[in-house]
Amino acid sequence: MLIVQKYGGTSVGDLDRIQNVANRVAKTAKAGNDVVVVVSAMSGETNKLLGYANHFSKTPPQREIDLLVSSGERVTSALLSIALQEMGLKAIAMTGRQAGIKTDSNHTKARISFIDPEPMKNQLKSGKIVVIAGFQGINENGDVTTLGRGGSDLTAVAIAGALKADVCEIYTDVDGIYTTDPRIESNAKRLNKISYDEMLELASLGAKVMQSRSVELGKKLNVDILVKSSFKDEDNNGTLITKESKEMEKVLVSGIALDKNQARVTIFGLEDKPGINAELFNKLADKHINVDMIIQNVSHDGKANVTFTIPQTEIDLAKNVLIDFEKRCDEISFDDSIAKVSIVGVGMKSHSGVAANAFDTMAKENINIQMISTSEIKISMVIDEKYGELAVRALHSAYNLDK
Ligand code: ADP
Ligand code: ASP
Ligand code: MG
Repeated sequence: MLIVQKYGGTSVGDLDRIQNVANRVAKTAKAGNDVVVVVSAMSGETNKLLGYANHFSKTPPQREIDLLVSSGERVTSALLSIALQEMGLKAIAMTGRQAGIKTDSNHTKARISFIDPEPMKNQLKSGKIVVIAGFQGINENGDVTTLGRGGSDLTAVAIAGALKADVCEIYTDVDGIYTTDPRIESNAKRLNKISYDEMLELASLGAKVMQSRSVELGKKLNVDILVKSSFKDEDNNGTLITKESKEMEKVLVSGIALDKNQARVTIFGLEDKPGINAELFNKLADKHINVDMIIQNVSHDGKANVTFTIPQTEIDLAKNVLIDFEKRCDEISFDDSIAKVSIVGVGMKSHSGVAANAFDTMAKENINIQMISTSEIKISMVIDEKYGELAVRALHSAYNLDK
């Protein structure tokens, strides 16, 4: 078998843990498999490097940021390869560039455009374990790019697709995907299986256990993703992220996600004329600002209020874009003390009353809902940040996810 394994930050968090990963990889290779390993930076490393950059600049050039943070994963890949070779195995560490990963030039959240599988295949053919620094590639100019936070997941899924691997295993500090973050609700239950679409919603709505773009790509390339613990030997069946099946629809709600990294932007009294929203949201899109929920109220006296959410990390960028609109509205306000809590499940397609139950639950807890958005398989609510965890626990029990 050809197996791609990815080990996240906590799993390679110190030298003993890297040795633990080396032992696991060695076991898989000795069982007769071809193994490609993707590693993250040691936990805390990426944030530390970003902190260094912020010491010198509030808005450091993104190209240099990518060169800087890509080093974290390189350190781990080299150390793991050294550990494996010391154990008598043949191994080679590769950067994203050496592994043939080409991306666009959207620094800090680049998209993979192409993977040349030959360099990796050649190493595998010569009997080596290939250890790849996750989270990175190169653009057309040969500059290093990175794939967005949590992007080593994307590296692993993309490589599994390019090499047509038999499995893509994501090893992390939990033993699978749970009904909600087990750090928030200790009664959360591990799911055996979850559909790509549900996982994609959970991930984009705050469940950081998988990077959302990696799930999107997994769906596109039809890569089955198995999420497991890097610390457990026994009872480690994990969660399979795979195509939707009939049995999944029987479950009303699969999971609950919490995102505390969102901010709300409100433009009060914006000139209400055709084309104004197009102009506003195109300008935000040009700066690659990820706009999520959008609400516009009924206009009054030729003016309307427009409210939307963006990631907190993009507030400064958004402020720059919105300078253009200051003269065409009454006021612009930013609020980063919000949380978005979401309920996800493919079963919602065929059941009614799911939203009413969510609103009842918030009412019982006396939590005010500021914004609501729904899709076929999710309901999201924006609430005051301080009630985020409380809302998750209340909803988890309201939908009987602890049973
Ligand atoms: P890694 O460093 O291995 O990439 P992450 O820290 O990115 O790991 O993701 C694992 C964490 O995701 C867990 O420790 C857990 O707290 C969190 N998490 C959030 N939602 C969920 C969920 N629904 N199921 C499992 N873990 C979750
Ligand atoms: N080290 C990167 C991050 O912290 C990528 C990853 O861990 O997947 O976001
Ligand atoms: Mg991660």
